[in-house]
Amino acid sequence: MTILESAKKRIITDEMKQVAIIEGVSEEFIRRGIANGEIVILKSKNHVKAVPVAVGAGLSTKVSASVGMYDKNDTVANELDKIFTAVSAGADTIMDLSVINDIDTMRRTALTTITKPMGSLPLYQAMAEAKKKKGSSLEMTIEDLFEVIERHAIDGIDFLALHCGTTMEVVNRVKKEGRLDPLVSYGGSRLIGWMIHHNVENPLYENFDRLLEIAYKYDIVLSFADAMRPGCTQDSLISSQIQEYIVLGDLITRARDAGVQVMVKGPGHVPIDQIETTVKIQKSLCKGAPYFVFGPLVTDTAVGYDHISAAIGGAISAYAGADFICYVTSAEHIGLPSKEQVHQGVIAARIAAHAADIAKGNEKAVTWDLEMSKARKNLDWDKQIALSIDPECARQVWTERSDDFSSECTMCGKYCAMKIVSKFLSKEKVG
Ligand code: SF4
Repeated sequence: MTILESAKKRIITDEMKQVAIIEGVSEEFIRRGIANGEIVILKSKNHVKAVPVAVGAGLSTKVSASVGMYDKNDTVANELDKIFTAVSAGADTIMDLSVINDIDTMRRTALTTITKPMGSLPLYQAMAEAKKKKGSSLEMTIEDLFEVIERHAIDGIDFLALHCGTTMEVVNRVKKEGRLDPLVSYGGSRLIGWMIHHNVENPLYENFDRLLEIAYKYDIVLSFADAMRPGCTQDSLISSQIQEYIVLGDLITRARDAGVQVMVKGPGHVPIDQIETTVKIQKSLCKGAPYFVFGPLVTDTAVGYDHISAAIGGAISAYAGADFICYVTSAEHIGLPSKEQVHQGVIAARIAAHAADIAKGNEKAVTWDLEMSKARKNLDWDKQIALSIDPECARQVWTERSDDFSSECTMCGKYCAMKIVSKFLSKEKVG
């Protein structure tokens, strides 16, 4: 029985118990959310080492970090190093989006090493193998694709990113709607290229029942990727994006009926004034399924600082109802991220998630901020550092710039407002 089937039958599973403790909510809250599709638990049957993570309405906003080998010089060791960096920076999940080299070893090593749930996009590997064996990724067959999907499932992947809703009808709409950047989804554009080359319908849409059988067997969450996500603020909320959500809405019903959990991936690039509308439309058309947003970037011009642009968009999206933020690094649009950029990307996304959680009244988030405020008031530097979202960074700045004899920091020095307040207004510590 899958997690979704159990929830529908009012059975509380071990995974539900675990995430209820982590989230600080009741087991029944989790069960009900899963049963109605607003919460998913990322933990496949075959990922023995994974600690389950719940994503969805009423829960803390989660952060995912993507890594992967894209160049022939990229190595499994380097990408694993980035995974460890992302995990230590606080990422809730990892996605391996490798398109080249030894993808099997990369995925299997990560799955047996880390306890975070992992996602993947099997189309990349199916196309890479077709290119290697047959000379072109266009020679990938539907059998090839499904063999790789099942391989990822057997290995223990917890969520599969698949462009199931990118039908020919959606693709045809792109041609006439005049998008500025018609396609920016890497996987989506490759799938569409394959469909146009063979003049056939999307194989993931056509063979959706086969996909459901695999997801059901291994209890994997389907993460519907959106090939029509806007790649510039100009293209936000354009009709093909909405049409893809409509198709996905129908597939979501079929998945839930089959006992398979689903979430939906979103944009991309969205101006601030359109973020709330984007989230509401997705939630409505996709029947409350958890929304996994890529950023979104609120301007196209923050090259070199896209982690900041994405954090602004991520915070507003999460406040509007998005549940899961895919990090964006400062290398976005210009290159593959370094380890340091992975670290900063995760921290930026976590700040966005936490900011939204405070505003949504998440008890753990509010308490965390309250504790920090008290530590700041008390000039308790060890506690402030321990409570920081990036303690190592906080400790480094404090150590470098403070002198051993002052209780205040060097920002205002002897005019420290905290010190003056405690000296003249209240001598008591805030407890
Ligand atoms: S010196 Fe200024 S910044 Fe530093 S703790 Fe005091 S009030 Fe805060």
